[in-house]
Formats: sequence, structure tokens, C-alpha cells
Amino acid sequence: MKHVCLTNSMSKEKQPIGIITDHDNVITLYVCGITPYDAPHIGHGRCYTTFDVLYRLLEFLKYRVIYCRNFTDIDDKLIQKSKNEFGTPYKFEEIAKRYIAIFERDMELLNCKEPTYEPRVTQTIAEIIAFVQALIDAGKAYIVDGDVYFSIDAYPEYGALSHRNLEDLQPGARIALSEKKRNPLDFALWKSEPNGDYYVSPWGNGRPGWHIECSAMAKKFLGKTIDIHGGGMDLIFPHHENELAQSQSIQKEPFVKLWAHNAFVQINKEKMSKSLGNFFLLDDIFKHYDPQAVRFYFLQHHYRNPLDFSLHDLEVAQKSYTKLAKQFAAIEKIYSDIPYSLITHMLDFLKDDLNTPGMLGVFYKHSDEIFADAILAGQVKTVFQDILGLTLIPLPEKIQEITPEIKELLEARIAARVAKNWKKSDELRDQLKSLGYDVQDKKI
Ligand SMILES: [Zn+2]
Repeated sequence: MKHVCLTNSMSKEKQPIGIITDHDNVITLYVCGITPYDAPHIGHGRCYTTFDVLYRLLEFLKYRVIYCRNFTDIDDKLIQKSKNEFGTPYKFEEIAKRYIAIFERDMELLNCKEPTYEPRVTQTIAEIIAFVQALIDAGKAYIVDGDVYFSIDAYPEYGALSHRNLEDLQPGARIALSEKKRNPLDFALWKSEPNGDYYVSPWGNGRPGWHIECSAMAKKFLGKTIDIHGGGMDLIFPHHENELAQSQSIQKEPFVKLWAHNAFVQINKEKMSKSLGNFFLLDDIFKHYDPQAVRFYFLQHHYRNPLDFSLHDLEVAQKSYTKLAKQFAAIEKIYSDIPYSLITHMLDFLKDDLNTPGMLGVFYKHSDEIFADAILAGQVKTVFQDILGLTLIPLPEKIQEITPEIKELLEARIAARVAKNWKKSDELRDQLKSLGYDVQDKKI
């Protein structure tokens, strides 16, 4: 049987997953979660759909997956939002709660399964403090006026994941040079807030830096070594590089066996992001498009390729998905230990670095053959629902009221067609189209 392979960002090569698990078919998966200070956008949707397909594929192949995805429920943006809304910095948990609820609803609409664990920073403070203390004790971190920094110089492998060398990083980092840091690349593990009322630590009041939470949470829920660590490509540097430095510098065991990253969603070749202001919220998209059609749209693209988002392409994907759901509506789902060779062929594409467009290509190439055989179609439905996570619930038909004005235009058009006045007929069709009615002709 073919192994599941994923591209490892560290080696830049495909690596078989079957080999990385050394504990009874258990696979541990950690994916960096959101900072809930706003509703999630399309980029988040793509990332978590990607890892949901991986989660589902591995479970389908009888692996037991322990999946951990965090919430960064305290950070500068949440504190700022709390100040703006409530006039106090301390209501960050309330802000986070609101956006976590929206995130969970969006994930449900996209049919992304719940991870095994969804820890929050505010519930992991004790473990974070213990982790920072261990780094200080090992000489990998230092304290300055209540702040704690990780010392890059104490971890010579820094840069290995993002394939950068320290000399390249230095000039840019100089801009952010703080007098407190020994090396401009050193990053905060603990931020002192002497006058703030956040958390008590051995170094005084304060709050955690961003990167330390993932090291602490991964260790708490998945152990010292994670089989697969995932996230968006934008997290490779500095976030994952820093996570790796923190965890690896105090243990011999590998921190991560395989790093998997999905590519960006782009608009006009630019990365979609909050900071650039060129983003679409999932909530807004779901007002006009079915969430399952959005999921299908993501899966039409390979997760390692940038996705050039366009409403036009999404519209086309929705049409294809609508047809797909209709085709499978009357098909009974079938599980079989002895699958058809076509199913094996489709699965081979998924096992090969989650090649969802390749798998869909096999489906479309053989769709006549598939729908001519109820057992084969039933097995394909199982793959679509269980691994791709598409619900295949037929989308409701748009109900449009035919007003007297529309009726008149339709009748005039029929008359023009009967009279073979194609020019007039086309004009009337365009007029109807501009009013939101797509006219489909049958032979007359
Ligand atoms: Zn993380």
C-alpha cells in the first residue's frame, strides 16, 4: 500500500508519514490556530480545510490522530480591541470568546471536524511559565527588567526551518533593536507589565510572548515530539522558527518530524491578509455562496500552490459543486475493504501530498463509468464525504418570483425566437440577464 506523503518544509522533500509514526498507528498533529480578535477570513478557511482533509484522510486510513489547534486569546491586538471597546485592557477574554464562537460556526459550516484539543493561552499560563523557567535554567533565555528573551546565540541551528542564515536576518532586525536585547533577533518569551494586572510570574507581572504558547501547548497535549506540525506558510518565519528554537534547545528528541505548510490565498497576486486590507471574511462570502461550495473551491487547488481568489472562480466552483451534489443525491454511500481500482487510484492522489485537484481530475475523467455503477458510485461518495469532507447536501434552488414585467419579456423573447429574429431574441436575453434571470433555451 502506498504511504501518505507530505512535503516537509524543513527538507523541502516529500516524506512518507507511515514512517514517522512509531507508536501504534497514532499520529500527533499540531496546527497553529487563530488570534480571535476578528472574524476569520478566506485564508483561515483554506488553512483549516487543508488540515481537516489530512485529519480525515489519516483517520480513513485507520490512523488514530491526536489533533491540537490553539487559540491565542491574549495578545496586543486583543488588548487594544478591549481598550477601544470597553475602556480597559482586561476584557480581552470577552473579545476572544466572541470571535471564537464565530470561528467555530464557520468551521462547522465548512464541515471541518473539531480537533481533539483546542487549548487557549489563558488556560495554559502555568505550563508557559514552567517552559520559560526551563529555558532560563538551561541558559537559553535571559531576564531583563522583568522581560524574558530567548537567546538566539544559544541555539546555533536557528534559521534551519526557514532556510535563512543569521547574517541575512541581522540587517532587517536591527530596526527593531531594543536596548534590552543582547542580539536583535532575540525574541520575547515573557513581556513585563509592571503596572498591569495580567499574570504573576517569577519575573514579576506580565504576559507571555506569542511563540512560547505553541511550544508549551504542544508539549502538554502531544508530548515532546510532534509527528506533523502544520500552519500557513506565513508562519514559517518567525513563528515556527522560534517555536522550534524554544522546544529543540532543551530536549534531545526531535520537536517535529514533519513540518507541513499551506500556501496563501492571494488577491491580484498579493497575499490576502488583514494588514493589507485585501481580505474577504468567511461570513461575508457565506452570505452569497454555500460554505460547501467554498470548501470545494479550496480543494480544486493544491494546498501548496497559492490560490488566486476570484468571485468568478468561486461562482464556477459553486455551479460544479451544485451539480456534484445533485449527481450523488440518490447514491447510497458504500464502505468496502476491497475497493475498486479506481478508488485506489483516487486515494493514491490524496496520499501523494494531498493532491486534491489530481484526485478530482480522476473523478471527472471517469464520471460516466462511476455513475453507471451504483457500487462504484457509492464508494466514491464515501471518499467525497469522509475524506474531502464535502457534505454533498443538494443546494436549495434559487426561488425567483416571475413578475408581470419578466413574464412579458419572456413571452416577447419566445415570439422573437419563433419568428427566428435572433438579434431581438439575444437582446431580450441580455435584458433578462441584467435583471438576474438566466434564460436557458431548449430546441423549438
Ligand atoms: Zn503556533
